[in-house]
Amino acid sequence: MANTRSATLSIRLKSETKRRLARLAEASGRSSNFLISDAVESYVADQERMLAEMRQADRQVKSGHYVRHEDMKAWLLSWGTDRELPPPKCVCGKVHADESPRPRSRG
Ligand SMILES: [Zn+2]
Repeated sequence: MANTRSATLSIRLKSETKRRLARLAEASGRSSNFLISDAVESYVADQERMLAEMRQADRQVKSGHYVRHEDMKAWLLSWGTDRELPPPKCVCGKVHADESPRPRSRG
């Protein structure tokens, strides 16, 4: 009976990668098939998320909402110094809901 929830795909791996995968499968008690499927699902989800974020960023820049590179760089370089700068603001001058302050480890 055909499995309707998955499909078969042949791929070429470097010999060394194939050996490492076999060792990892053995060590983890998982099949190579499971590890490959898990890796591909994870990669595809990451790439989809990255593309969605890039599209959103592109829309924000085109609509005039972004932080200047030099402002962000200056802020990041001030971390851990005696004169830490406040987080950079959007060039439009407004504070947006998604602008969260830098996470602090201090209690
Ligand atoms: Zn803005």
